[in-house]
Amino acid sequence: MVLLQISEPGESPDLSVTRSIAVGIDLGTTNSLIAQFDGELVHVFEDDLGQPSLPSVVHYGAESTQVGDAAMALANEQPENTIASAKRMLGRAREEVVDDPYASLTTDGALAFATDQGKKTPVEVSAVILGALKIRAEAHLDSPIAGAVITVPAYFDDAQRQATRQAAELAGIKVLRLLNEPTAAAVAYGLDEQAEESSLLAVYDLGGGTFDISILRMRAGLFEVLATGGDSALGGDDFDREIARYLTTELELADPTPRQRRTLLGIARDAKQALSDSAEVEIDGSGLGSDALSASLTRQTLEALIEPYIERTLMSCRQALQDAGVDSVDRVVLVGGSTRAPAVARAVEACFGQTPLSTLDPDQVVAMGAARQADILIGNRSDNDALLLDVIPLSLGLETYGGLAERIIDRNSTIPIARAQEFTTARDGQTGLVVHVVQGERERVADCRSLARFELKGIPPMVAGAARIEVTFRVDADGILEVSAVEQQSGARSEVVVKPAFGLDELDITDMLKASYEFAAEDMVARKLAEAGVEAEALLEGLRAALAQDGDLLDSDEAQTLQQEMARLEQVLQQTDVDAIREHTEKLGRASETFAARRMDRSIQTALRGISVGQLDAESAE
Ligand code: ADP
Ligand code: MG
Repeated sequence: MVLLQISEPGESPDLSVTRSIAVGIDLGTTNSLIAQFDGELVHVFEDDLGQPSLPSVVHYGAESTQVGDAAMALANEQPENTIASAKRMLGRAREEVVDDPYASLTTDGALAFATDQGKKTPVEVSAVILGALKIRAEAHLDSPIAGAVITVPAYFDDAQRQATRQAAELAGIKVLRLLNEPTAAAVAYGLDEQAEESSLLAVYDLGGGTFDISILRMRAGLFEVLATGGDSALGGDDFDREIARYLTTELELADPTPRQRRTLLGIARDAKQALSDSAEVEIDGSGLGSDALSASLTRQTLEALIEPYIERTLMSCRQALQDAGVDSVDRVVLVGGSTRAPAVARAVEACFGQTPLSTLDPDQVVAMGAARQADILIGNRSDNDALLLDVIPLSLGLETYGGLAERIIDRNSTIPIARAQEFTTARDGQTGLVVHVVQGERERVADCRSLARFELKGIPPMVAGAARIEVTFRVDADGILEVSAVEQQSGARSEVVVKPAFGLDELDITDMLKASYEFAAEDMVARKLAEAGVEAEALLEGLRAALAQDGDLLDSDEAQTLQQEMARLEQVLQQTDVDAIREHTEKLGRASETFAARRMDRSIQTALRGISVGQLDAESAE
């Protein structure tokens, strides 16, 4: 069986949502933002100084905890108590972090930072950032927030996603949904609502310390991540370091102290950002105690310094296109503060052969998309929006072995709803699985409507039936279906999102329902036939393998009888007689009982041979 049900569906209660204010949060490695959509406009909430971005930095001092700029200001004095880029460590195990750029990482037990306030985990650090954003938004809105959509990189695995959820919970934020960052950027540009049948999209995200490229496909109602790539150690910080190195020479700083170096990095970042808008900047080195008091930096020099890094991002882009199996895309979206550098935007344009979308602030576009999504999920849609569904029009399910449709969510279920079911693998050593999402009331997949197909890769090789794959169907308040498959042992995960109404209009639905009543009896027969066929094939396959391995356990008469029974069942399988298939399957099962018993004996003997007599004694003495 490719997919085999091993547990009953369970309803998840966490999807109940009420009408209220919901926000979008971009929990970034360098900067985090919080935004809200009021039905017309997205507001990115600013701090008291008018800054929309909150640096993702937390300072755990002996006296108090500081977040954002206040924490950054203390980094120079107490680097070990100041945690930056905690997102890199979210959902990671201690042993996964090989080279430790964080002097304060503890060396034992769970991954944590050692601070004057004791051990702090990445989840706790992220919770402090989320908490600060929540306070900021609630002050602006003068109302508590009911829930949030939080964005995560598309490549985040289940553990990293889970850790993000935990951080939100710890901060007292109800997570409506985790949304992939590139998808959020696409939503901010309204690309999910475009008219085209199908389109390809590249999201180029160059932040402070990470570069992500994602290739997405959008098909009427379908959002799919085709490929992700990038470099987790490449970003604006590299630009800062290059500029600082250049300035060290220009300002004749022979051997800068660590403190001077940090100050210089700050100067470099300011200069870099200024050069996105002007051609030249004057650097004031007086605070550095350097020999030369000032230097100038031109955009041209800056561009020469960062050129190799930009070229590396383009290599990742070409790789991602190749991984996605496409030559070009229809649209390119720029995300991340570093894409404000004109050289970056130019390079992306040349690479993809088109002007990238950049009308929305690239620092804010992810938070903006998340805010839009949050508003939809919380149910604040305008009344003229016909897409808001409150029941599922047709059953949703997936294809199982034998071309049968396994229903997961029944037609007319009220939404939001979530149901999960466990499946397993059919073959020994199977490492991949195709999940085919279908809609309709008919028993056979061929008679249902295909909604999406995705692949779960990276299942650890195991014997057939040992893998536990949880497939979850969630339909949110807006009728968006999200199907995810997670292999429980390795955490390998894959998912697909299908948009409202699933592309069907009233008429289609009526037709499909009519057909399902009309063919109900016929379908039942087809289902029984397919099921009987699956069982027979499984028995035959098992016996073939057993004969190849332990055929010597049978004498020639016995072997011949068994093979005759097998041939007969194979013959019956050619016809469409359910009863005959069942009858012969049973017969073959009985005929192979002796063989099965002998194989069992042999395998026990083999197992015992591995144990010494001493061990056996010790075990029986227990
Ligand atoms: P992240 O997604 O990693 O949290 P951001 O998208 O906020 O990061 O990007 C932060 C980076 O963007 C920093 O390196 C910052 O210096 C850089 N940046 C911000 N504004 C500009 C600008 N105007 N020109 C060039 N780089 C900028
Ligand atoms: Mg970002």
